[in-house]
Amino acid sequence: MPRTLAAAMAMPLEVCAAVGGFLQLADGIAANPKNLEVMLAHILKNGHHEIHRATPTVARPKFIFNVIGTKRRPELVLDVFPPTLSTGRWQDNLTIMRSMQPATADGLLACFVDGRAALKAMARGLCETCGAMEPPLKRLKGAGLPVCVDCALYASFDL
Ligand SMILES: [Zn+2]
Repeated sequence: MPRTLAAAMAMPLEVCAAVGGFLQLADGIAANPKNLEVMLAHILKNGHHEIHRATPTVARPKFIFNVIGTKRRPELVLDVFPPTLSTGRWQDNLTIMRSMQPATADGLLACFVDGRAALKAMARGLCETCGAMEPPLKRLKGAGLPVCVDCALYASFDL
């Protein structure tokens, strides 16, 4: 965990939200204790919650919350997986980020801060070479590459 985030977590929720760079989680969804408690309760109810809003043509990241620890001191574990299509085998992907936090409103907010930072850091977009093909393909750029892994392999034969 970055030192700045650790410091932020020791502060009141409002300060933590400001340090995290947002007072609203999304349009009309304030990062206030009430809203966070509603979402936290939803996650705690089953102890496991997955979100993957991908379609066959639009890749999106997958989020998995798990609740570990004891009843008295439950902890949240958020795993973030890289964007995949709904038809992809996301299981093959390694988690790009794991955040372990107390199962509290502050902890949930810290999970969001961690997840946002990780996704921002790995934002790769789609391979433009593939997009220019006929018919165009939607492939994610390879990690750290300007094109997808397929295009990088192909180009490596000096083509
Ligand atoms: Zn490509």
